[in-house]
Amino acid sequence: MPFDLFEVDKEIPERKKHIYIKDSKDPKEHIPACNTTTVPGCMTERGCAFAGAKGVITGAIKDALHVVHSPVGCTAYAYGTKRYPTTPDMPNGDKFPIDNFNLKYITGTDIRESDVVFGGMDKLKKCILEANKEFPEANAIYTYATCTTGLIGDDIDAVSREVAEEIGKDVIAINAPGFAGPSQSKGHQVANDVLFESLVGTKEPPRTTEYDVNLIGEYNIDGDLWVLREYFDEMGINILSTFSGDCCHDEIGWMHRAKLSLVRCQRSSNYIAKLLKERYDIPYIKVDFFGIRYPTENLKALGEYFGKEEEAEKVIESRMKWIRPELDKLKEKLQGKKVWVFSGGPKNWHLPEPLEEELGMDVVAVSTMFEHEDGYEKIKERVGENTVIIDDPNSLEAEEIIEKYKPDIVLSGVKEKYLAHKMGVPCILIHSYENGPYIGFEGFLNLAKDMYAAIYNPVWKLMEFEQEIEEEISAENHARRRGPS
Ligand code: SF4
Repeated sequence: MPFDLFEVDKEIPERKKHIYIKDSKDPKEHIPACNTTTVPGCMTERGCAFAGAKGVITGAIKDALHVVHSPVGCTAYAYGTKRYPTTPDMPNGDKFPIDNFNLKYITGTDIRESDVVFGGMDKLKKCILEANKEFPEANAIYTYATCTTGLIGDDIDAVSREVAEEIGKDVIAINAPGFAGPSQSKGHQVANDVLFESLVGTKEPPRTTEYDVNLIGEYNIDGDLWVLREYFDEMGINILSTFSGDCCHDEIGWMHRAKLSLVRCQRSSNYIAKLLKERYDIPYIKVDFFGIRYPTENLKALGEYFGKEEEAEKVIESRMKWIRPELDKLKEKLQGKKVWVFSGGPKNWHLPEPLEEELGMDVVAVSTMFEHEDGYEKIKERVGENTVIIDDPNSLEAEEIIEKYKPDIVLSGVKEKYLAHKMGVPCILIHSYENGPYIGFEGFLNLAKDMYAAIYNPVWKLMEFEQEIEEEISAENHARRRGPS
């Protein structure tokens, strides 16, 4: 059977079904067990449902203020957002007065024991009013239930509705307390549903064209959106709404006016694309812009859809004529290097083929925090034979992956970065990036440059030095134990 039980999991054999070794002779339905609660006893690397809502979906909106109804810990956790930069430009031509507002501020109710006993709804109302007074420039306020306030049953919807009337602004309640699902994935879904139900169809865009698209699941990590916006501008395609990178609150309200939805992150935001199709008959296509082949294919498909084939060709050619030679030089250095890709979900099927096809690297392990069955099916299709595919790996498994599969580089999030470094393995952040953007042709070149710089950093030579010292010390200790000859 191609399922494997790691040494560190001897006491928790349930983990075996989450660890699959790719075997192409195996039936299609054999994939790792996924989207279930973490096996007790595992130190998971996952985030909670609340983190999925605020950290992924709503935290990228440039003009919204967030009020987290929680003990202060969740509020502090929610402050640590991904690198979601924003411009001050608003669709009506105004400028938002605070730069990167979404990255700078978070507010919370700081729930205490007495609030747990007597209820925290009054405190929430007071806090929203206070936050609104402090940041009058915010165009909307988003409130969040968390584990504590979800458990005591505070009705954040009622409070939000009441305050919205009082202040004359949207106050959107997001009910995704940490325990709402097995991982952050549940929070993505709740945020999609709430934003769709409360906002879409409530606003009209300042202008429309025949080439309006919703770019869904694009959060502008380290400027990804701006790369794609350049391509689309050059093709004459207008991004009417982004969900939700560098977008403003009102943009979500007019998503129903687009001609087509493009779904970039197909784990966190396919929900709203499906709702737009069901309710407003807006077709959607799933797109992939990582690497070289995928953006080429997807820009061509988009060109074909809108009758802009030539424009698509021009975008591709103008980038590839300078990117290809640089990429080829990097390929000489990266060829044969082993990689472990550990993402939240979809980057595990976006990245393996480009890394192998374009850079000659060898993807030896992939793992995700919250991918579902459809994502694992794609991963299985796109990785090479004998690649280990792991769902929700725990910290000890992470160490075993490094010891057993010996990657030359780990592509992961910040939690795993320092573990990899301590084990002497370079690591590049693919959740928040190092020197992004990483999307599109230029982005893939950035990723290749970062991997090259990380692998060939002279600091790793000091590991050999450390090993020599350790060997010397152990030889001395051995000699001391033997005593004088
Ligand atoms: S919502 Fe729950 S799991 Fe999430 S940070 Fe708060 S306490 Fe932790």
